Amino acid sequence: MFLYNHFTVNEKGHLCMDGVDTVDVARQFGTPLYVMSRSYIENTINEYHRIMHENFGDNYTIAYASKALSAKFIYDIMKDLDVCCDVVSGGEIYTALKGGMAANKLHFHGGNKTKREIEYALGVGIGSFVVDNYQEIAIINNAAHNLNIKAKVILRVKPGVDAHTHEFIQTGKEDTKFGFGIKDGKAFEAIDEILRCNNLDFIGIHCHIGSQLLESKPFAMAGEIMADFMAVIREKYGITLPELIMGGGFGVKYTYNDAPESKADMIKVMADAIKASCEKNSFPVPKVTIEPGRSVVAPGGITLYEVGTVKELENIRNYVSVDGGMTDNPRYALYDARYECVIADRAGEKRDYLATIAGKCCESGDLVTKDIYIQKPMAEDILAVFTTGAYNFSMASNYNKTPRPPLVLIENGNPVLKVRGETYEDLIRLEL
Ligand SMILES: *Cc1c(COP(=O)(O)O)cnc(C)c1O
Repeated sequence: MFLYNHFTVNEKGHLCMDGVDTVDVARQFGTPLYVMSRSYIENTINEYHRIMHENFGDNYTIAYASKALSAKFIYDIMKDLDVCCDVVSGGEIYTALKGGMAANKLHFHGGNKTKREIEYALGVGIGSFVVDNYQEIAIINNAAHNLNIKAKVILRVKPGVDAHTHEFIQTGKEDTKFGFGIKDGKAFEAIDEILRCNNLDFIGIHCHIGSQLLESKPFAMAGEIMADFMAVIREKYGITLPELIMGGGFGVKYTYNDAPESKADMIKVMADAIKASCEKNSFPVPKVTIEPGRSVVAPGGITLYEVGTVKELENIRNYVSVDGGMTDNPRYALYDARYECVIADRAGEKRDYLATIAGKCCESGDLVTKDIYIQKPMAEDILAVFTTGAYNFSMASNYNKTPRPPLVLIENGNPVLKVRGETYEDLIRLEL
């Protein structure tokens, strides 16, 4: 009936998430409201554990790409699930540590890590750096030298795989700000540089071929290219790298038209390609890490809004305004993203009203989604937007001095407040 089966309808006709009535939750905590399912997150990670174990035995890691949703509670959940985390800023490192993650389980990514962030990361004992430019190689080496330690580094390379996804979030191609090219020899120059540094420990290579990937083919191509490249590195430098990180965001269903291949198929196809390359090159299968972000949290989250005005423009479209929008979910504005929605009060009824969901900011681009079918809305209804667990909370802003919404986690059948909503005082707390 819905995109995911943790959503049901109760006897009142209300939308439920993990059996909890979302209309009640909206009334209790107010709107707009982010609601997350702890069990969805846990089940997804456990599924990844099972699939990775099937393909690689114990020689694997899962690294949750925490930019998708970075808050103390999520690092606390990941810690309990034996998962590492990708972080991309000093702020994410800080939040991860406050959430109880061990520093040595963090991989520090990013194309322009500042010196200050690098020193902070080393000072707290970061697990590894995923190196993305020449400048940071020297900075990491110097900072490690000053602390008299060796920093583990992983080189981000561009396998040149063209993953079919939205142009803005395509990162594996040659024309991208991320990584070092294999074909143009830039990766070798970076390796030369890393090997000249006494305080760096070169442990592996990394790629990220794109986000919201719906098919396994690019994973297979990248897996083979990366594993082959590890054999080339061995040949050229005599180093057998122990680690391979296969980034690439597993796609999720945002709309009824999205049909991602299963996680099991995507990972098997990738694993088979890596293993075939290793066999061909007599290279020991490395420890393989996957980096799911969105797929861990997006389907586990919804946003609840209250319906305000409805403007029916004859023969054009029906604008249904809600009490949030681009401030809590900028993805339509950024990526033309699409979502499915229901009127949570009448979730069991037929969706036969064509609506465009508008936010309350003074921007015509402030839409949540366009031209979708929902139940006929009435003022004060609760509108639920599905699949908002990733890149919503973490991308929220205070534009138009809009307080950011609270976040509630459904745990053991109870809604638990994990992040309180901002107040008007919060909006000016930094202003002197
Ligand atoms: C963002 C990111 C991911 C995760 O992408 P999703 O689409 O959120 O799954 C993985 N690896 C790296 C390096 C990333 O930057």
